[in-house]
Amino acid sequence: MDDSVSLTGTGLHLAFGSNKVLRGVDVHVDAGKTVTVIGPSGSGKSTLLRVLNRLHEPDAGDILLDGRSVLADNPDRLRQRIGMVFQHFNLFPHRTVADNIALGPRKLKKLSKEAARRLALEQLELVGLAHKADSRPGNLSGGQQQRVAIARALAMQPQVMFFDEATSALDPELVKGVLALMADLSTTGMTMVVVTHEMGFARSVSDSVLFMDRGVVVESGAPEQMFDNPETPRLQTFLSEVL
Ligand code: ADP
Ligand code: MG
Repeated sequence: MDDSVSLTGTGLHLAFGSNKVLRGVDVHVDAGKTVTVIGPSGSGKSTLLRVLNRLHEPDAGDILLDGRSVLADNPDRLRQRIGMVFQHFNLFPHRTVADNIALGPRKLKKLSKEAARRLALEQLELVGLAHKADSRPGNLSGGQQQRVAIARALAMQPQVMFFDEATSALDPELVKGVLALMADLSTTGMTMVVVTHEMGFARSVSDSVLFMDRGVVVESGAPEQMFDNPETPRLQTFLSEVL
């Protein structure tokens, strides 16, 4: 990608009532790089992604794409620039795989039916599923469905991709293919933020790792540093439990 953008969040705070879920989070992803976010359940990882694409408005802090604050823009515009892939892929069961992908570009980018279909087939080719274009999602494996969900996000031509535990709901034997696709994508110059429990992926694919606990970034750095020489007791404990 030649139009890669950087993504920055500074001093992000968010509370749900009295529950302070983000308490001053800073995150930066250089253009075309991949940052993984690790940390215990409930530490605020998903909320951080949702604040970064303004599904929740931060109580304080700023969000910058390509060095420019996006908080004054229409949130829909930001969401069109950021593709998101979740644990549960939520494909429409009664539509074909190709239609699932073509829907967004038709509605939001006003592509003709034919152009959207061409785009869908191109994206399916990239995720290795062109032969499934006219199948229903229910006839695909979970791993294939997640690859379709990734193709659906990419069809909107986002500048940044977020993944929130994209492989957590998959049977173990299907995880590899999805992680391989994410790893491929990370080498194309896509700017990515990946929340994951897959420490192998965090270590081998990401340019840097953020460890969150209780709404703050406790430690961050290059993967080798984080995994081989964790500095804080909290990261040491976390890694001893998950590795
Ligand atoms: P993680 O993804 O690290 O497991 P989350 O960001 O999902 O953590 O959740 C962090 C905290 O925020 C939890 O205490 C959770 O209950 C709370 N939370 C998340 N989303 C909401 C919401 N929409 N309304 C109220 N509380 C929420
Ligand atoms: Mg989560």
